[in-house]
Amino acid sequence: MSTNPSVSSPSAAAASFGSDHAAASPVRSDWTREEVALIYRTPLPELIFRAQTIHRRFHAPDRVQTCQLISIKTGGCPEDCAYCPQSAHYDADVERQGLLIPQHVISVAREAAGRGVTRFCMGAAWRQAPEGKDFDNVLEMVRGVSALGMEVCCTLGMLTDSQAARLKDAGLSAYNHNLDTSPEFYGSIITTRVYDDRLRTLASVRKAGITVCCGGILGMGETERDRIGLLHQLATLEPHPESVPINMLVRVAGTPLAEKPALDPLEMVRAIATARILMPASRVRLAAGRKQLSPEAVTLCFLAGANSIFVGEKLLTTPNPGVDEDEQLLQTLGLKPLESHAI
Ligand code: SF4
Repeated sequence: MSTNPSVSSPSAAAASFGSDHAAASPVRSDWTREEVALIYRTPLPELIFRAQTIHRRFHAPDRVQTCQLISIKTGGCPEDCAYCPQSAHYDADVERQGLLIPQHVISVAREAAGRGVTRFCMGAAWRQAPEGKDFDNVLEMVRGVSALGMEVCCTLGMLTDSQAARLKDAGLSAYNHNLDTSPEFYGSIITTRVYDDRLRTLASVRKAGITVCCGGILGMGETERDRIGLLHQLATLEPHPESVPINMLVRVAGTPLAEKPALDPLEMVRAIATARILMPASRVRLAAGRKQLSPEAVTLCFLAGANSIFVGEKLLTTPNPGVDEDEQLLQTLGLKPLESHAI
């Protein structure tokens, strides 16, 4: 339990959060940090119950969207994100790969669509999306994947307003740009950019009319207060990110966070339930680190309001459960794939 003096005072916050309050106005962007802390620290069975109750008002409880994320340009990134094996600052044994050709990427998306995947995400290890031939090729990928009727998401680093507008014209549905952690802890994880850089790119994405995919990573050595701070930042974006990926750190040898202790999976459940209550209409995605979670923990994440997973053997460069394993899990749980909204 955090001793943060700025968060707490449950009695005051209790007046503004309770099932009645949540029922009256479930979509809000004016959450205070005290309210977020109060929700986060609710006894877990009660927290999951509230999250599932809200989840059912906004989402079909038996539907999970499957997304696929591929790395279209791998390694050699000038940023120093301490969790990332693709940073050029660390020796994490990741083979560098230049930008893939559009035809190849589109064929991978077509194959994924054939397996029922409805959202296709393309990640490139850039600090800033480049101009010129590489950007034109990304636009071609977006056009090609969009033509398959899939939701198309990119994560290419920082964007200018003009690049965001061209991606929108090409058919991009969403842009991923994570806040990663709380503003206070951010400098312990990344020194090559600041929180405001992230917020600026998110504003460019919004301005272009692209939906926002924005979440964070748990298990990087942050405190409970930082997890609350991250969720507060996300839930006070207006409008909320339509997509909120909650990642569990994958501890990769060679990165500065490789030796961090494993996160208690129940912290993931708690964060997901809190995200569901704070951002009821968003898709909450159980993202990286799923290989470290038991089927029971994943089930609890679904019960807490997660309604999307990433499928495929790899998430960018880190391992992910196999396609067969995921199909089996969803079948066992009686969950069905969510169709694309092509947003
Ligand atoms: S997370 Fe993204 S920006 Fe950070 S080092 Fe990795 S590829 Fe670069």
